[in-house]
Amino acid sequence: MSVPLHFNLATVGIVHSCYKEKFGIPRQPGLVTEATARIELLPPYNRLDTLSGLSDFSHIWIQFIFHATMSENWKAKIRPPRLGGKIKMGVFATRATHRPNPIGLSVVKLGKIYQENSKIFIELHGADLLDGTPVLDIKPYIPYADSIPDAQGGFAPQADNTTKVVFSELANIQCAHYQSLHQRDIKTLIKQIVEQDPRPSYLQNKEGKEHGISLWDLNIRWRAHPEHFEILHIEHTQ
Ligand code: SAM
Repeated sequence: MSVPLHFNLATVGIVHSCYKEKFGIPRQPGLVTEATARIELLPPYNRLDTLSGLSDFSHIWIQFIFHATMSENWKAKIRPPRLGGKIKMGVFATRATHRPNPIGLSVVKLGKIYQENSKIFIELHGADLLDGTPVLDIKPYIPYADSIPDAQGGFAPQADNTTKVVFSELANIQCAHYQSLHQRDIKTLIKQIVEQDPRPSYLQNKEGKEHGISLWDLNIRWRAHPEHFEILHIEHTQ
C-alpha cells in the first residue's frame, strides 16, 4: 500500500489567549499557571457531545499549528534558547516551533467546558499558546500511559531557573486597579511570565534594557537588572 505523503487537516478550534504576541509566552505549558485561554470549537465540531466525558480528565493534550511562524523555513539543526543559543541540536531533538510540519503539542490543565451564545468553549489553565492558534486535535491526558516518572530529559531535565521580579510602586497601583476592574490577578500573571526570562538569548546579557510584553489589552513595560527584573508600569493598548 503506498504511503500518502501529504494530508489535509481541519482546524477544529481556535485559541483565545492572554498572549497577544509570541514574546513572553513560556517555553512549555504549566510554567505560568495564572495564564488563561480558551478554545472555541469551530463548525462542524462545535457540538457538546464531542466533549462528553472530557471533564472527567484534569488535563488534556492539544495538538496545534504554530501558525505565526509556519511560513518560515525549518532547519535540520537549531539552537534551543535554554542552551543560550550557542549549541545546535537536531530539530527532532527539540520542541522548536520551526519544524518540517509546524505542529505543536501541549498538555494543559482543563478548566470548565461551557456554551456561550451558541458557541462552545474549553477553558485552559497554564497554556503556552498564542492568541489565534489553530487547534488540530484535543485528547485526554491519561496518566498511566502519558506520565513516565523515570524518563530522561536530555538537555531539558527540569524547568529553567527563575529570576526575582520586583514591581515599582506605580506598577503595584496599576495592577491593583486592573484587578479590581477585571477580576484577573494580573500581578501574579506578570510575575510568572517575566520570572521565566522571556528574552531571546542574544538579549540576555543586555542589562538595563527596557522590554514590553503584550498581555490581554495591556503592554507591560519592564527592565532587566543584573540580579532581578523590575516591572515599571502597565499601559492599556486599546
Ligand atoms: N508545548 C509546545 C510543544 O512542545 O510543541 C510548544 C513549545 S514551543 C517551544 C513554545 C513556544 O511556541 C512559545 O514560547 C511561543 O513563543 C510559541 N508559540 C505558541 N503559539 C504559537 C503559534 N500559534 N505560532 C507560533 N509560535 C507559537
